[in-house]
Amino acid sequence: MKDLTHPQNAPVVILLGPPGAGKGTQARMLEEKFGLVQLSTGDLLRAAVAAGTEAGRKAKAVMEAGDLVSDDIVLAILTDRLAEPDCATGVVLDGFPRTTGQAEALDKLLSERGQAVTTAISLEVDDVKMVVRITGRFTCGSCGEGYHKDFKPTKVAGICDMCGGTDMKQRADDNAQTVMSRLDAYHAQTAPLLRYYGEQDVLQKIDAMGPIDSVARELSTIARQLTV
Ligand code: ADP
Ligand code: ADP
Ligand code: ZN
Repeated sequence: MKDLTHPQNAPVVILLGPPGAGKGTQARMLEEKFGLVQLSTGDLLRAAVAAGTEAGRKAKAVMEAGDLVSDDIVLAILTDRLAEPDCATGVVLDGFPRTTGQAEALDKLLSERGQAVTTAISLEVDDVKMVVRITGRFTCGSCGEGYHKDFKPTKVAGICDMCGGTDMKQRADDNAQTVMSRLDAYHAQTAPLLRYYGEQDVLQKIDAMGPIDSVARELSTIARQLTV
């Protein structure tokens, strides 16, 4: 068994993929099953918007338009979160990095701690199908569990399977129009990272068009090798 409390052994897993690919769903699974801490820059930014911080005020309109928030803002919130003690035994990055500048900054940040990216896993999907995934997405406001109206409905309509909560939320940016801008942003600014991590020899690609459970099985096979 690896001593995961030793920083050099703590896995740093990146999930890459366009909006709707399943990054959040699978990052949550990896957290529950393997104890990797899910770091979602989207969630961190939405919390900043809700709290009305300076970063949140700057990010709000950019997110609503489906564009990327500036590297400075994203790096500041990610760096703070990564420094918290619970991240020391391994993380799964969901929605970060999204630009080459962010990827280079992450490498620098990790190398200062004697770490490096363990693996970057690309969730390979068909863009056209992502619109349906995103427009049907909703989340429990109490516990954060993610759902889909057709692909992952709650067992009882309107009631969270996990916590019994009834405060279901849909994101302001999860509409068909904004999705198109977000897909464009992915191809223009994030897809080049496939090459970046390919050159570092840490890239793995998996087919993420199948059902949630089969994608989870494939990811679990990878994660098991990193955490034993
Ligand atoms: P991302 O974080 O990459 O934007 P999510 O994990 O939030 O994506 O998934 C987007 C939506 O699609 C959610 O409603 C989720 O329940 C659903 N979903 C995730 N993975 C799959 C899958 N493999 N098949 C069908 N629906 C999925
Ligand atoms: P999804 O994966 O479904 O597109 P996220 O929750 O990851 O959604 O991101 C929502 C929005 O937050 C993005 O469209 C973008 O505006 C902003 N955002 C999240 N992560 C980053 C990032 N690493 N860099 C820049 N903007 C980001
Ligand atoms: Zn819940």
